[in-house]
Amino acid sequence: MAGHVYQGSCHCGAVRFSVETALESPAQCNCSRCRRLGWTMQSVPAGKFVLSSGADRLTSYRFNTKAINHTFCSVCGIEAFASGEDGSGNALYMVNVSCLEGASYDSAAVTHWDGASF
Ligand SMILES: [Zn+2]
Repeated sequence: MAGHVYQGSCHCGAVRFSVETALESPAQCNCSRCRRLGWTMQSVPAGKFVLSSGADRLTSYRFNTKAINHTFCSVCGIEAFASGEDGSGNALYMVNVSCLEGASYDSAAVTHWDGASF
């Protein structure tokens, strides 16, 4: 599936990035954090993600297995993306679809992760 380069940002604009994705596998998760956050994420290989500004504004939060690095803007509090690894150890980013300019996806395509059981 052909990808598209989206521009993404937190709310205040301190954190900016670009990501190439076809938004082919948007996902929601029912773990204790995602349930509170209410986000829809799209995973992409690390090579498809470029942080263009705001690295010094990001605050990191890890919980449970500490496997996922939840990064949010210390100014406005928005988690525009998280990072971690897939089951094979490949680095990936989980991008908050709501933080991408002009992004839309088929809500019927949303998969549901049972993160609460991990
Ligand atoms: Zn911000």
